[in-house]
Amino acid sequence: MPIGSGKMNFNFVLSSGTRRAHLAAMNARPPPLDLAVIGGGASGFFTALQYAELAAGKRVAIFEKSAHFLQKVRISGGGRCNVTHACFDPRELAKNYPRGARELLGAFHHWQPADTVAWFKRFGVILKTEPDGRMFPNSDSAQTIIRCFLDRAGKLKIPLYQNHPLIGISRLASGGFSLRFANLADPLEARAVCLATGSLNGSPLLQQLGDLDQPIAALVPSLFAFNVSDPRISDLAGVAHPQVAVRRAGCKPAQHGPLLITHRGFSGPAILRLSAWDARAMAETNHHFPFIVDWLPELKPAALVARFAEIRHSQGAKLIRNTPIAPIPRRLWERIVASCDIADLTPWGQLPKAASQRLLDALKLARFEATGKTTNKDEFVTAGGIDRDAIDFQTMQSRVTPGLYFTGECIDIDGLTGGFNFQAAWTTGHIAATAIANQ
Ligand SMILES: Cc1cc2nc3c(=O)[nH]c(=O)nc-3n(C[C@H](O)[C@H](O)[C@H](O)COP(=O)(O)OP(=O)(O)OC[C@H]3O[C@@H](n4cnc5c(N)ncnc54)[C@H](O)[C@@H]3O)c2cc1C
Repeated sequence: MPIGSGKMNFNFVLSSGTRRAHLAAMNARPPPLDLAVIGGGASGFFTALQYAELAAGKRVAIFEKSAHFLQKVRISGGGRCNVTHACFDPRELAKNYPRGARELLGAFHHWQPADTVAWFKRFGVILKTEPDGRMFPNSDSAQTIIRCFLDRAGKLKIPLYQNHPLIGISRLASGGFSLRFANLADPLEARAVCLATGSLNGSPLLQQLGDLDQPIAALVPSLFAFNVSDPRISDLAGVAHPQVAVRRAGCKPAQHGPLLITHRGFSGPAILRLSAWDARAMAETNHHFPFIVDWLPELKPAALVARFAEIRHSQGAKLIRNTPIAPIPRRLWERIVASCDIADLTPWGQLPKAASQRLLDALKLARFEATGKTTNKDEFVTAGGIDRDAIDFQTMQSRVTPGLYFTGECIDIDGLTGGFNFQAAWTTGHIAATAIANQ
């Protein structure tokens, strides 16, 4: 497998017999690639593998800027790689994308999780489903996915070039592209280019895309935890609540799910979901914003008032701080009660009306201030990127620059945590590969 290191090394150029022919070949420009895939991550590999299979005899290569391919796959899902999600209805699936749902709805009719599962199975990788729908390789190791991709690339003889950062891209009068790589003296030519570079945050390619008039949606982080310093949660790191509703103050809708108290504030599925849906609004305030936690979303305020009355009646002698309302964890309950100025020794039967109202508010409308964000260690993504309106989602081709294709996270598409981001990479990769192969 050719590994680029400084000088381009196309096998077909260097394999000629005689010295004269060899020198002539050395001096000749290599013929254009049929497809140059920029980025050796999830979507780049998937695009190249599918293209090579569909377009036998065509020349495709992957160019990766770093020293390692598939780095994010390696660390994904805590090293287990949450490959996709067991949601096989495109309409339901699309609901998990704060940005790109409309475009992906159509795209999922071409390639959805069932296709991903079947594709991996073809190559001996069996995916299993966890109770929450997340799908992982049976081995519980991201290495299984990496090995599968590298084996396939070897079998399909796709040249893989690491340490090849693309730094310039321009159109040729002939219709193809001239590609400049930081480590190569001469540009390369390709008939089609697939940008699979992942997040464009800080990328030198932003300027290049601007020169091509390719519109870019502002880049902001998504899937992050909230930094919160508050006596109600200090020293409670590790405490988990199975079901809360959380929303930005003054905004709807709330996101539901488990919540985890961390050393820095709040994390867990409900928080990550809110960070994704409100990613842009939160970025506008530099991730400083008030938000509301409903610790008992299953109980409407009137039902909670009735619950108070029932406890007062049946367990009136019990101390409030010792009788948490399920499912609020005990240590968190104690803090909530204390935050309402209810003395430790107050029994339910002696809860004053005003304190009862304070407890109701503290349970249903707990206000906190986020003072920044912390990246979620299991998964984070960039929202924003190549403007969706400037892409034809039947082909993933730029509407502005024919021959230029986009796949994966570089597009203004992002999903919730749970395997949805990789699924977007597989789906867009499949569509691009098929379209380029059918040209
Ligand atoms: C810690 C973490 C865990 C995650 N876990 C999951 C998970 O379990 N499930 C899930 O669905 N999603 C997960 N994600 C999100 C998922 O990894 C991404 O959505 C996905 O990797 C996007 O694939 P991609 O190919 O578009 O981009 P990437 O995987 O980021 O690949 C892009 C590649 O392009 C290269 N590149 C960039 N610029 C250039 C250039 N100029 N020239 C050449 N190469 C370039 C980069 O070095 C990189 O290798 C996780 C993300 C993180 C950060």
